[in-house]
Amino acid sequence: MKILAIVHKDSGGALPKAALEAVAAAQSLGGELSVRILSGDAPVHSIDVPALAGAIKSSGAEIVIAPGTSRIMRSMPAAAMRAGAEIDTHITGLSSGPGGVTAQRWAYRQRILCTLARDARPWVLVVDGGAFAPAAPDSFQAEPLPAPAAAARTECLGVQTAAADAQTIRPDAKLLFVAGAGWTKKQADGAVHSAEAAATIKEFLAASGASLGSSKSLVEMGDESKADFGFMSHMNQVGQTGATPRHPKGLSTCCHGEEPHVVGWRFIGERRAVNLDANCGWAQGKADVLYVADAFKVMSHLNRILKG
Ligand SMILES: Cc1cc2nc3c(=O)[nH]c(=O)nc-3n(C[C@H](O)[C@H](O)[C@H](O)COP(=O)(O)OP(=O)(O)OC[C@H]3O[C@@H](n4cnc5c(N)ncnc54)[C@H](O)[C@@H]3O)c2cc1C
Repeated sequence: MKILAIVHKDSGGALPKAALEAVAAAQSLGGELSVRILSGDAPVHSIDVPALAGAIKSSGAEIVIAPGTSRIMRSMPAAAMRAGAEIDTHITGLSSGPGGVTAQRWAYRQRILCTLARDARPWVLVVDGGAFAPAAPDSFQAEPLPAPAAAARTECLGVQTAAADAQTIRPDAKLLFVAGAGWTKKQADGAVHSAEAAATIKEFLAASGASLGSSKSLVEMGDESKADFGFMSHMNQVGQTGATPRHPKGLSTCCHGEEPHVVGWRFIGERRAVNLDANCGWAQGKADVLYVADAFKVMSHLNRILKG
């Protein structure tokens, strides 16, 4: 069985963890593997699509594996269509046996695990980050995948990335730190302390390198109430109508732990929460440890420890 893995480098010129995970997923199938590295630093759709489609067609591969990065997610579906391939995304498991290749993905907001098989070939499988252990960089050889000359009608003048501290979503972080609406609610003194809350959260993120998640209630708050929380958006929302990130540990603060939120914690290894309410949702078997405490005090103490 011919297998093609297509990956790309990050802006620093290195293969990111997601690329090594995709290669590991391809290696796990045990076929004849070739690895191609998509050229260019920038995700230019009009260049990436023909490059990917050309590679799928010319490789003669039955199975094509790629990482679920934003660049691949934007271009691979169109490339698969051009190449006459079938595609499935958000793959979290693969296996190969006498019955052929099967892939797994979660459905209904991570409540049902589906196992898929297809007769159609080529079959493109885009794997989710964090679902496979990364391949050792010296365990495979990769060839470049240059853009087809005819595709170069779009010129990339440069890439502007957000300031490092503005990038609050960090898929490779060891810790998911969730901020809930409680940070914007009246506290024991009868006053709201939004500015202090935002500063405490930002200080913790900078010192710990944690990825920032949010409850729906916090990111949906009216502009006035969340003026201090401009560093958060719907992109941070974890849950049924938000993201389902993968991190070894999670710490929830000022968030009630209701089911539509906690369903987004499906793949968080160890869960801890800080809440004033001993009967909050986290106490109903949803967290490994619940600290019944004031998150303002806990987090500023933690920040002092992290500062040394
Ligand atoms: C169809 C549907 C889809 C939904 N999808 C999502 C989703 O994807 N993600 C999501 O998050 N929600 C989702 N929700 C909403 C969800 O049900 C909850 O309403 C939401 O998660 C509540 O957010 P919260 O816990 O931050 O706020 P609240 O319910 O207001 O809880 C605030 C918490 O902060 C605590 N608190 C306050 N001050 C402190 C302090 N000083 N220290 C410690 N704790 C403190 C309070 O005790 C309270 O538990 C969905 C709802 C529906 C109906």
